[in-house]
Amino acid sequence: MTHDLALHGGTVCDGYTCMQATILVSNGKIKAIIDSSDPFDANEVIDCRDRFVLPGFIDPHVHLKLRLGEHESSDDFLSGSELALSGGVTTFIDFLDPGRDARRLRDLFEDRLSLARSSKIDFSFHSTISGEPLSTAEEFTTASLLMGCPTIKVFTAYSESGRMTEDGFLIDLLEQSREQGTVVLVHAENDPIIQHETRETGRVATWKDLGSVRPVITEREAVSRMSLYAAETGGQVYVVHVSAGSSILSASSIPGFSNRNVVFETCPQYVVFTDRSLKSDDGALFGCVPPLRPVEERDLLIRFVRQGMVSTLGTDHCPFTSAEKLAAGSLAELPLGLGSLGLTASALWTVLEQGDILLLTRMLSTNAAKLLGLYPQKGSLIPGTDADIVVFDPDSFIDDPLNDFTACDYSPYSGFQMTGRVVATVMRGKLAYDGQQVLVPEGYGTFIARRQIDWSDVP
Ligand SMILES: [Zn+2]
Repeated sequence: MTHDLALHGGTVCDGYTCMQATILVSNGKIKAIIDSSDPFDANEVIDCRDRFVLPGFIDPHVHLKLRLGEHESSDDFLSGSELALSGGVTTFIDFLDPGRDARRLRDLFEDRLSLARSSKIDFSFHSTISGEPLSTAEEFTTASLLMGCPTIKVFTAYSESGRMTEDGFLIDLLEQSREQGTVVLVHAENDPIIQHETRETGRVATWKDLGSVRPVITEREAVSRMSLYAAETGGQVYVVHVSAGSSILSASSIPGFSNRNVVFETCPQYVVFTDRSLKSDDGALFGCVPPLRPVEERDLLIRFVRQGMVSTLGTDHCPFTSAEKLAAGSLAELPLGLGSLGLTASALWTVLEQGDILLLTRMLSTNAAKLLGLYPQKGSLIPGTDADIVVFDPDSFIDDPLNDFTACDYSPYSGFQMTGRVVATVMRGKLAYDGQQVLVPEGYGTFIARRQIDWSDVP
């Protein structure tokens, strides 16, 4: 039979094995993977020789069109999804606005869904609890599951803006996680230390003080505490944006620690940059939370990445323009967040010194799919599943990390030499990015509802 599309002759990797093969696609699905010397018939053929052919990447952590005080993150779902395609990302997960009342979750869901309709790639949402909840952990869990969002984000910090949730509620939420099959995403920092340090430096603090206002110990303590709660309750904890190696070192030495209960996400900025960037004259352009860390913390984090202790690489994509960043006179006025969407594969391949394509595939695709309830529809190359496929050239270079797709006017990665580049992205069977242009229309993406997640069942 004639297939719609063939990806011919590349090194096909699914995160566990690699082989020279051809992937055949029809009706948006993967139909078969055949030996690269076998004959086939297809209407369109992508030549993948000397390239890696991987399952579409999943960015588990983006903030598109996020309102932060008087600022709004630069990329919306349209520009963000084009940027994503240029980096091989075929599914991303954004966040519902924080809520305190489980009965309002449906409204928050509808609001975000209407913003996301322009997306060119598939998407899902994490629900977010903030502050002192007006509903029980059980009510939140049930309401999130009903919307197809089995992943719930909480904060252990930001009491000053009312986002911090108390530990007692977090423990209730983890018990629900075990009973109902949800995953609790935690922004883990120690709030009392941050409040104390902020009072000490008062209004004079700038981005140069980010690392002393939010020192490594704040993350290290909170990640360890959450690991203890996970061990105690049997709940499933996904720690977002781990910035320091010693957070993982401490957490993994907690009695009862298991990666069946606690997993770690990091972001490209934490494995690429150090706090030296923050201390430069244009350091405001590198302002994010948690802050960039000292070189020894960055290097320890990379060591854990290499050992497979860090499951996923999310971007926490939340850029603001250079004008907004540089206009801030103090830390309090600085909109915090960086843009990394589109660059994860190149950044990680460079950090891994072009070493381990299986690890890269697991971190960018397979693990996120399995841990967050998308597998095998996403994150696999199993026949019958969505034909979301990336063609990655391991030897070419990113000329300029600031491409035309983003609505932001700068990239923190300018000047950072990156090896490896996404040269084609296939999204549900269609060539969606050809190395230059995005080829699918606005609204091509669709919401992916997810079900209960049980990490002890993860294949
Ligand atoms: Zn975030």
